[in-house]
Amino acid sequence: MKKLRYMTGVTTLKLDQDSCVGCGNCETVCPHAVFQIENKKAVITDPDGCMECGACQNNCPTLAITVEPGVGCAAYIISGWIYGRENASCGGPNGCC
Ligand code: SF4
Ligand code: SF4
Repeated sequence: MKKLRYMTGVTTLKLDQDSCVGCGNCETVCPHAVFQIENKKAVITDPDGCMECGACQNNCPTLAITVEPGVGCAAYIISGWIYGRENASCGGPNGCC
């Protein structure tokens, strides 16, 4: 399966490293390996891989992660597979948003 990619530089994902206790939940639940634990703290290593599903936020015990679930656009990604990323859009000929 192709690796899913979101639009570059637009994710709402944020991490407050000071609040992170290094439990690893975010690394475990993220379907796109956006996080890694380094020196007992979470690090966002691939922000553009974030699909804004919200799983990391929902499983962070210290509220160190914020993300606006549902902002990610699956149609954009599928369109990019078919037409190439430079020609991708969120909808049909007229777009959806
Ligand atoms: S789930 Fe929260 S506390 Fe746990 S490693 Fe990730 S950011 Fe840190
Ligand atoms: S919102 Fe989903 S895809 Fe994005 S970092 Fe969190 S778990 Fe991963």
